[in-house]
Amino acid sequence: MLTLRQVFYMYEFNSLSDWKINYSQKPFVISGPCGAESREQVLDTARQLATKGVHLLRAGLWKPRTRPDSFEGVGDAGLAWLAEAKAETGLPVAIEVAKPFHIESALKAGIDVLWLGARTTVNPFLVQELAEALKGVKVPVMIKNPVNPDLALWIGAIERIMKAGITNIAAIHRGFSSYENGTYRNKPNWEIPIELRRQLPGLPLICDPSHICGNTFMLLYIAQFALDLQYDGLMIESHNNPSVALSDKNQQLTPDELGNLLAQLIVRKPSSDNALAISRLEDLRDQIDELDDQIVRLLADRMRVARLIGEYKFHHEIAVLQPERWEEVIRTRTAIGLDNKLNKEFILKLYNIIHEESIFQQTQQMEEEKQNAAKDNQVTH
Ligand code: PEP
Ligand code: MN
Repeated sequence: MLTLRQVFYMYEFNSLSDWKINYSQKPFVISGPCGAESREQVLDTARQLATKGVHLLRAGLWKPRTRPDSFEGVGDAGLAWLAEAKAETGLPVAIEVAKPFHIESALKAGIDVLWLGARTTVNPFLVQELAEALKGVKVPVMIKNPVNPDLALWIGAIERIMKAGITNIAAIHRGFSSYENGTYRNKPNWEIPIELRRQLPGLPLICDPSHICGNTFMLLYIAQFALDLQYDGLMIESHNNPSVALSDKNQQLTPDELGNLLAQLIVRKPSSDNALAISRLEDLRDQIDELDDQIVRLLADRMRVARLIGEYKFHHEIAVLQPERWEEVIRTRTAIGLDNKLNKEFILKLYNIIHEESIFQQTQQMEEEKQNAAKDNQVTH
């Protein structure tokens, strides 16, 4: 078996500008509803998006839903609506495919780009079936990351599609599901796409802030963050009337809102040769150094106090661990954190580490006190 390095060395990824889509300048923008719901909804959304600088119209026709009896997509019926939207607006169209017959129908209907969803990438059997169906076909394929944070699975899916002879490939980063009830619907785990970039340089990388955030208010922040990491494009869900959307209604923008978001994005150069920008960066790094210095000193002070507490507890025979006190610490610290725009999860993690070390320092101190007391006893007797 060839190593990954050998496989990808033989394979040159095309850039998005080779996709025969009218696009020249970053970011490549993909937008459209989570799901196609009706002819009206598709056409109205597409008409509006065509005026917002979107390069590729998206819509899910077969929706992978967590629970049965949710809206599972309109299926084949949506193909004609997308063809109509394309004919009218000139926008090429993309859909998610999860079964070989989806690919067959999509190609017959003239769909321009296909994507594999997060729940497909996770399953090598499915990906292989799709790869077989793609043999001999010339269509760009985008591969979303698997639902779980597993880079090897993501790369494996890309490799299978590549080996089917597909030359226009992109990866879509849509975040990873986790049990923690955090800020994100799907945690970005930025280190994973960064490592993907390192291993597969040249592979176009697209960020899907909609499925990362699960809401609309963080989209701009995530989209900008992705651009600052040199992503090539963005996939953002947009619906002509998000409040009545049949899936993912909390995260869809209206086309107007999408236009506003795109207008606020700043595309920065890979490295700035602007002296002012560099010195500003250096200034900020100095501030970070200064703050880190203070953080470490403050932690040392805190541990000193913890040792004093250890001493006190020893002499008064009080237990080291007091659950009520710990709960109080967590409650007040996360509240201060929230007031200062720090997320709760971060404060919890931080205080778990601090608390562990405090307990360690206290018990060390108590041990020392015990030994001192024993020595004192020896001297007096
Ligand atoms: C989608 O794009 O609407 C979708 C279902 O995404 P994901 O596969 O990332 O969950
Ligand atoms: Mn969706």
